[in-house]
Amino acid sequence: MPELPEVEIVKLNLEQALEPGDEVENIEFLSSKLRTQLCLPKDIRWPLSINKLERRSKYILLHFSGGFLLSHLGMTGSWRVEKKIKAQKHDHVIIRWKKGNFWIYNDPRRFGVFEFGVNTLTNKWLAKLGPEPLDKDFDTAAFLQSLKSSQRSIKVLLMDAKVIVGVGNIYACEALFRAKINPFVKARGLSSKKLELLLSSVKDILQTAIKKGGSTIDSFKNVSGEKGAYQKQHLVYGREGEKCVICSQVIRRKVQVGRSTFWCPRCQK
Ligand SMILES: [Zn+2]
Repeated sequence: MPELPEVEIVKLNLEQALEPGDEVENIEFLSSKLRTQLCLPKDIRWPLSINKLERRSKYILLHFSGGFLLSHLGMTGSWRVEKKIKAQKHDHVIIRWKKGNFWIYNDPRRFGVFEFGVNTLTNKWLAKLGPEPLDKDFDTAAFLQSLKSSQRSIKVLLMDAKVIVGVGNIYACEALFRAKINPFVKARGLSSKKLELLLSSVKDILQTAIKKGGSTIDSFKNVSGEKGAYQKQHLVYGREGEKCVICSQVIRRKVQVGRSTFWCPRCQK
């Protein structure tokens, strides 16, 4: 499943593919629904001039005057850019640009979302999202406060998009390992120093993963169809039964709130 770094890469790729002054001529749906219904607003006026692309959590937003297009890749979604459409199985959305490009959304498992929105502050997918870890104005004090006021375990909090967005299972496991924090302990029992170390681990890991082209676990590909390389740097995720790179203890896996948690029982006491 694409996480924040993978979505950021897709957004950067699409941004590069966006030609200056280009406009969306129309959008064609090849299916009736993905996770939600695919439909155009009745009052839409073509062409749409896209002002900017933005990533918010795991959503890619294409802003135009009066609204935005929202794309979520779900489990297996991908965008590709073509000059001439080479149709593939599981293509669902085609954005046709005036200057001749086609942006094609493909999604075999159809958990993705493609919708029109008007206001990002009230949109149902965006309104309740917490802060962005890579935002330069990230409020560390408020983040620590929200961790310390909860009874839940640190890993569950780290993966709660209301607390902080974009830290999915892989990157939560990796950040907790680097900060030497046991994933099962309550956040409120941890010192501010430990939590600050965790936050900087989260930021480092996400930034490095973006530089490495993301993690390809199942199917992630960027807009050019290339796989990521960050999975080669995973120190605990997916390494159950292997030796810890720091202390040689065997890495363990346990299901925690429905997701596999990987950790080193010695480094992360
Ligand atoms: Zn260890």
